[in-house]
Amino acid sequence: MSTDQQSSLLSEQDTGMLPRAQLLAGNLQAVLQRINSVAHSPNSVRLVAVSKLKPATDVLAVHERTGHTHFGENYSQELLEKAASLPTTINWHFIGALQTNKCKHLAEKIPNLWAVESVDAIKKANALEKGRAALLSTSPSTPKLRVYVQVNTSGEESKSGCQPTAAPALARHILEECKHLTLQGLMTIGSIARSQESVIPNEDFLTLKRVRDEVAKEVGVQSEELELSMGMSEDFEQAVGLGASNVRVGTTIFGERPPKKNDARDGASEQMA
Ligand SMILES: *Cc1c(COP(=O)(O)O)cnc(C)c1O
Repeated sequence: MSTDQQSSLLSEQDTGMLPRAQLLAGNLQAVLQRINSVAHSPNSVRLVAVSKLKPATDVLAVHERTGHTHFGENYSQELLEKAASLPTTINWHFIGALQTNKCKHLAEKIPNLWAVESVDAIKKANALEKGRAALLSTSPSTPKLRVYVQVNTSGEESKSGCQPTAAPALARHILEECKHLTLQGLMTIGSIARSQESVIPNEDFLTLKRVRDEVAKEVGVQSEELELSMGMSEDFEQAVGLGASNVRVGTTIFGERPPKKNDARDGASEQMA
């Protein structure tokens, strides 16, 4: 590939004005500013830049230009490929619908998988535990794998996540039985319709907070020790205002995704994997 062709990969133009790398870096900075303008204290909220269905060159461009490290992916095969080709200084978040038969592999083969945010069943936690235990047995300096319990707060059948009433027992199981996992907090996708309603706050975010209190009580920790992962492009500022610790933003940074696969809010499933 000629140098010209190579650089055109990174400078594929969205606006017709800026090279793509510069555009994406600017988008990320703008999101960080918007977060900080509503956060209770500066840099207290983690931004996960959601790069699903976007090329690895986009991730690399943002990572190199801004030093941003947290990126999110939804599909296990896509994550495995990107993780293998991109710098290990990236902290990956798996945020997609989790299939039990993919869990062990993800936890074992990606040392810089920082968190799995979509744990909604005991058998999935167990499979992640098995994978991370295997990795730690050969590579003891690898951190434990952080996990979030995903809660279906909107009651929509298409959404993954455990029922709110099931979250405390799942959290307890992770803490007591999964020694190679760390319970990082709770995650919800929430209903986009609710965030578009003029009536705020979004009930899903309130539900997640309430479930966190119940989980904290069940496992005997302070609520604040458990993170809330909530808020996407449409509603991350509102989520931060309601106490989100971790927001997951894709479209606002990387632009519209190809309509190839179902999106989380249509009920993501990993059909292509
Ligand atoms: C795709 C996805 C996001 C990002 O969505 P945007 O609307 O593009 O910001 C966040 N969370 C989950 C679980 C997703 O699947």
